Amino acid sequence: MNLTEKEVLSLLKAEGKELAALYKQADQVRQENVGDEVYLRGILEVSNYCKKSCNYCGIRSKIKNITRYRMDTTEIIQACKDMERNKMTTVVIQGGEDAKLSKEYIGELIRKIKKETKLAITLSLGDQPKDTLIHWKNCGADRYLIRYESSDPDLFAKAHPDDDLTTRLTFIKTLQEIGIQAGSGFLIGIPGQTIEGLAKEILFCSSLNLDMIGIGPFIPHPDTPFGIESNPFDKEVFFKVISIMRLLNPKAHIPSTTAFDAIQPNGRNLLLQRGANVFMPNATPQKYRKFYQLYPNKPCIDESGDDCAKCVQGRIVSIGRKIGTDQGHSLLAKEKK
Ligand code: SF4
Repeated sequence: MNLTEKEVLSLLKAEGKELAALYKQADQVRQENVGDEVYLRGILEVSNYCKKSCNYCGIRSKIKNITRYRMDTTEIIQACKDMERNKMTTVVIQGGEDAKLSKEYIGELIRKIKKETKLAITLSLGDQPKDTLIHWKNCGADRYLIRYESSDPDLFAKAHPDDDLTTRLTFIKTLQEIGIQAGSGFLIGIPGQTIEGLAKEILFCSSLNLDMIGIGPFIPHPDTPFGIESNPFDKEVFFKVISIMRLLNPKAHIPSTTAFDAIQPNGRNLLLQRGANVFMPNATPQKYRKFYQLYPNKPCIDESGDDCAKCVQGRIVSIGRKIGTDQGHSLLAKEKK
């Protein structure tokens, strides 16, 4: 489906019957294009060290009052085996930009995970040189996730003192060129964003032809420079954005991101009924979870990996959906072959 900027804006302002129709249509488009299966991708937060200081991030390097940790290989492999046991078919290896997670170390880790499990591997380890990405792909990495948060040059610069928008967008293109499934997305309500800017962002993100679209609301973290800001939008807008993204990107994988549970009880369930088709349970060992809070009141901090897995399986069944049994690779990548 194609929508003009004016039409997107009008959907962002939808209320009553019009809003119900948007949610219904997004759910229908999801069902027709990516089916009823919900893929479980376990997030493993392997390190909260980061050399950068993004102004919204709860693990930015300038925050000194958190315990920094880095999981070791044995812990990571064990967590991956636990994920498989709990019906997850992808591990998302996520961390800050940590120099100790070197090209060689991650390459070896990918090989080990592939040898010892059947999991697909998504990496989310920040900005990396092209040769590193190619090496990781050759070792077996299937996907890479890096958000750009805002395509408005001023808003991007305000949020990212250590990054450059052109470099970030080139990085996403590089992923597509080397044939690794690419995931990206933006923050809804990043400080300075207007409703018109949000409509533009939706269209820009859709133009990237992404395999996976990860979008979440901006939630101010009190220990960051953006802690004094607030999200300019009503929480209903957050849901509308996902539904519109589904209409514009029928075949993309769209996760129901954790932050939706932080803004509304059962927010992730609702999102699965309004366009999303992927669930990313937290699979990080419980002892590390409290040290990886990118935003405050992050859900599932006190639970274990098994607790989260059981909970998510119940949630999916409760809304009449099925757990995806294959690796849930990109439908767009399959079409490109
Ligand atoms: S958003 Fe990513 S790159 Fe930026 S400070 Fe946080 S972990 Fe580091």
